[in-house]
Amino acid sequence: MEIKRKLTKEIKLGNLKIGANNPIAVQSMIKNKIENFEAVKSEIKMLEKCGCEVIRIAVSDENALLKLKTLIKDNFFTTPVVADIQFDHKLALGALDIGVDCVRINPGNIGGFKPLEEVVKKAKQKNASIRIGVNSGSINKDILKRNNGDIIQSIVDSVIETVEFFEKLKFYNFKISAKASSVIDTITVNEIISSKVNYPLHLGVTEAGPNFPGAIKSALGIGILLSKGIGDTIRVSLTDSSVSEVRAGYLILSNLNLRKYGVDIISCPTCSRTKVNLSEIVNHVQDLTNQIEKNIKVAVMGCIVNGPGEAKDADIGIAYGIKKAAIFANGKVIKRVEIDNALYEFENLIKQI
Ligand code: SF4
Repeated sequence: MEIKRKLTKEIKLGNLKIGANNPIAVQSMIKNKIENFEAVKSEIKMLEKCGCEVIRIAVSDENALLKLKTLIKDNFFTTPVVADIQFDHKLALGALDIGVDCVRINPGNIGGFKPLEEVVKKAKQKNASIRIGVNSGSINKDILKRNNGDIIQSIVDSVIETVEFFEKLKFYNFKISAKASSVIDTITVNEIISSKVNYPLHLGVTEAGPNFPGAIKSALGIGILLSKGIGDTIRVSLTDSSVSEVRAGYLILSNLNLRKYGVDIISCPTCSRTKVNLSEIVNHVQDLTNQIEKNIKVAVMGCIVNGPGEAKDADIGIAYGIKKAAIFANGKVIKRVEIDNALYEFENLIKQI
């Protein structure tokens, strides 16, 4: 089944088009401190290598702005770059002046419409885009008061007021993110916003948590919205590496058939029928296949119950038995080997890919 995406307006983020029928873009954010400049540089390169399509970087003071200026001047980024601005609209103006492709502003703390108007004018002049980023943790206090503390209504109001202000200024090159740390609230606000406006939506569950629970929360929040055709770009927020965020983002997209990305490992949960340490074997196969860019399916199965079926269905696969393991390629058994040699043989097959 194919998901029918809502046709949003197309916007430009540097050389990347977002919205409409363009692929759903995967984003992440730099985690190293800007003072640790070399670490920031290597993080950018790692992100670009693993397929991150938009890189956001926090610009919290003049020093960060200067460092970012150096990177942009040296053409260090091959991906569009977004400066994340909180509180100080002058930093947004500075970031646009040094050539970022987009500034993320938070209507809850940018200081009202007057400073925002300056940012919009500058973005227009620089042909840059803006991300309206409303988060449940930093909603404008007046809006919250007006709505008697109703978070969902306040997020929606904050987004819609900002959208209308941008439209009044005839500025349309923007996307919207409305995030809550609750999965249900994130889904609800984005559904409401999507029903009201036609601009691209950036999806994410904010402060989702550490790797495992964070990935589950994000898969639910982002995945449910995507399954309803909502969302043009995503970020999985994890208290983990930015590269893990990108991998998780692609996994969500590929499991919904919205994008293809690298190797899809099919492995069984194991049970008392398994005679090998399948978890160790799967981890090893994952390490071996991490860097493979081809979109292929690799099956690693613990016994003959479902093993041969899944391994046949994959591009390559291994199904362990009691004493031997069967190795599959393109739906056929190509070898039956002793269990002790099986991983070595399978590794050789992976290396050929
Ligand atoms: Fe158990 Fe075999 Fe199923 Fe794996 S494939 S869970 S080992 S029955």
